[in-house]
Amino acid sequence: MRIGAHVSSAGGHYLVFERARAIGAEAVQLFISAPQQWKLPDPSDEQIDTFRRQQAAAGIPAFFHGVYLINFGGRDEALLGRSVASLKAYRHFAGRMGVTGTIFHVGSHLGAGFDGAMVERIARMLGEVLAAEPDNPSLLILENNAGQGNCIGGKFGELGAIIRALGGHPRVAVCLDTCHAYAMGYDMATANGCATAMEEFDREVGFGRLVAVHANDTKQPLGTFRDRHENIGEGHIGMAGFRTLMAHRAFREVPFLLEVPGFDGKGPDAKNIRRLKKIRRGLGIEAPKLPPISRLAKAR
Ligand SMILES: [Zn+2]
Ligand SMILES: [Zn+2]
Repeated sequence: MRIGAHVSSAGGHYLVFERARAIGAEAVQLFISAPQQWKLPDPSDEQIDTFRRQQAAAGIPAFFHGVYLINFGGRDEALLGRSVASLKAYRHFAGRMGVTGTIFHVGSHLGAGFDGAMVERIARMLGEVLAAEPDNPSLLILENNAGQGNCIGGKFGELGAIIRALGGHPRVAVCLDTCHAYAMGYDMATANGCATAMEEFDREVGFGRLVAVHANDTKQPLGTFRDRHENIGEGHIGMAGFRTLMAHRAFREVPFLLEVPGFDGKGPDAKNIRRLKKIRRGLGIEAPKLPPISRLAKAR
């Protein structure tokens, strides 16, 4: 189990590795384009090389987070086309940059309801993204959401339906956000609640497809459908809740990626990472061995 974090890529994507290692992160998530804009990422060959060298020196896996504008649940052809193009570009560069995959939100059905026809449409578009580069090993990683508005994928069954409609494509995976699951009513903070939730996850999605956790505490009580991240131990899940869920076997080999506000309001920090590492240690779960940080400077 790795403890990682979303880290700013401002000033150069390759910088995420030294920023991650500086706060003790053992895995990293980043954007490669402005998350509120459609402008497609376009790193140069040289930037891609530097990123790969830095990643090798850091010895940690990397994940992209897709742009927030993506929506596969609507009917607006222009928006659907842009969503496909954005995910294709992210997947293309994930493959070239040695990034595990792109984590993204499926979007909102905007009140139309989530039915079989919608599942087929979403699967057709994601299938198009996958088919564009059949040999690209990078994953499309669906994230569960808080069930706010008409968002698709709050329930594990909705993610499972999309994966089944894709014929169980081997390059499709899932990221479980603990804050979103809790908002959706999955009580990840108690042993019984977590066991029940993860049974449902296994039945609908399968533990084999769980490739990342967004480790976030929450400012909101259980089942409130509100997406409000909180620092680890400061919210309704709490330290005891994280201890409970981290003890579940489904998470044993899965990287945890923080998307918390941070104790100084600047995003995931060393203190949040230390808290999760302390729980990991208490549970006797092995930590990865990482190369010395000094290698990063040499590999610029
Ligand atoms: Zn998340
Ligand atoms: Zn969230």
